[in-house]
Amino acid sequence: MTPVDVVIVGLGAMGSAALCALARRGVGAVGIEQFSPAHAFGSSHGRTRVIRLGYFEHPSYVPLARAAYPAWRELERLTGERLLTVTGIVEMGRPDSRLVAGTLRAARQHALPHEVLDAHEVMSRFPAFRLPEDFIGVFQPDGGFVAAEAAILTQLRLAGEAGAEIRTGERVVAIEPRADHVLVVTANGVIRAAQVIVSAGSWLSTLLPVPARLTVTRQALAWFEPREPTRFDPARFPVFMLQDDTGIYYGFPPDERGALKFAKHHHEREAIDPLVPAREFDAADEAILRNALGRYLPAAAGPLVEATTCRYTMTPDEDFIIDRLPDWPQVIVASPCSGHGFKFSAVIGEILADLATKGETPHDISRFAFNRFA
Ligand SMILES: Cc1cc2nc3c(=O)[nH]c(=O)nc-3n(C[C@H](O)[C@H](O)[C@H](O)COP(=O)(O)OP(=O)(O)OC[C@H]3O[C@@H](n4cnc5c(N)ncnc54)[C@H](O)[C@@H]3O)c2cc1C
Repeated sequence: MTPVDVVIVGLGAMGSAALCALARRGVGAVGIEQFSPAHAFGSSHGRTRVIRLGYFEHPSYVPLARAAYPAWRELERLTGERLLTVTGIVEMGRPDSRLVAGTLRAARQHALPHEVLDAHEVMSRFPAFRLPEDFIGVFQPDGGFVAAEAAILTQLRLAGEAGAEIRTGERVVAIEPRADHVLVVTANGVIRAAQVIVSAGSWLSTLLPVPARLTVTRQALAWFEPREPTRFDPARFPVFMLQDDTGIYYGFPPDERGALKFAKHHHEREAIDPLVPAREFDAADEAILRNALGRYLPAAAGPLVEATTCRYTMTPDEDFIIDRLPDWPQVIVASPCSGHGFKFSAVIGEILADLATKGETPHDISRFAFNRFA
């Protein structure tokens, strides 16, 4: 058995970024993925992911979001791929909604560029929206989206070019920590590694006894052909999020097919078994989305073009886990999901590489430690 420096279990958003960062640092790394990368069974498919600076979830994410932008641009520079598109983002709702109040709090605390617009100003600047009088919008020019599958495939390509070994269609069946190394058992054999990064997404708790209660939930997303395409001119239709009494919705400008992606954050919060594929997108999912489209974006509510389901892996406090296992420090757990991790993945790859090579990172990841669950 030839020992390797680091094995990465799971090559979704986080694992592909970690493998890329490690390989570029010259570390002997092996990445193992049970399916074909950029597949549609986990948390990282669906073409696009929102990126934004003013972070409604908590202002402490802003430095990480700031670091993500140059990390995506560096990957673009190295590969010539277009991964990050800045469109601006408008976040709408009542002034006291978590989305609007949280975004403003983060934007003000970190002196981020932003504008506050009343409902009429939002509708005159972005004429596709229909808002109630008591809604406002916070516009941030830096918002946009990351190309999801392209980000994974690009990082794996770079990782391979830098010497990483990439094994696909191979499932890890056990991770067995030993005193000073780890055995990674797959259907094809056993790998002895100095360290393991477990970035298995929604499958994490099926592989490791993590000291946190994780819930995997089914999400739904859909693409609609706008009924009035002229209202969706890119200059007048940015990435958006909107909160009302039923939840938070989000969407993207029409893609190259002219299809507008629209979804509800957390959708129905339906817990699922990570080992069982989620139910396919159905009429009830479509009704939830059409109801909101009809209220706030009627010009978008044309025929359904595409739809799929996806998974969130939720921690109890909806913050990420990026930490070593308390009893097995040679096992690094990377579970940055809770429905909002993708935008950070390029920089989280660097953080995971820092932890594996130096034992520490200059980024503040104290919010993501296991000890908060103690
Ligand atoms: C619908 C939806 C919308 C979202 N929107 C946003 C957004 O707008 N902005 C944002 O920042 N984030 C968003 N997120 C969250 C973001 O996409 C996730 O945080 C991120 O994709 C998680 O990546 P991951 O690498 O942890 O998981 P995954 O990408 O699921 O990767 C885990 C990988 O591990 C592999 N694996 C698991 N077990 C094994 C095993 N035993 N052996 C080998 N391989 C294994 C899996 O096959 C999978 O490829 C969204 C998520 C969803 C589902």
